[in-house]
Amino acid sequence: MECEKEGCRAEAAVRLHIPWAGVETVCTAHGRALVQQDGVVAEPIEGAEWP
Ligand SMILES: [Zn+2]
Repeated sequence: MECEKEGCRAEAAVRLHIPWAGVETVCTAHGRALVQQDGVVAEPIEGAEWP
């Protein structure tokens, strides 16, 4: 599975539940940035490298 962010081809590592945007499946780098925002819940994908 790939990161959902446009232009990013990295392997998805985490499923983020974002109160204002819904669920996004992203790579480690994008996940680390987004999870610092208030209210975002990170659900690691099984077998992925997270955090
Ligand atoms: Zn990414």
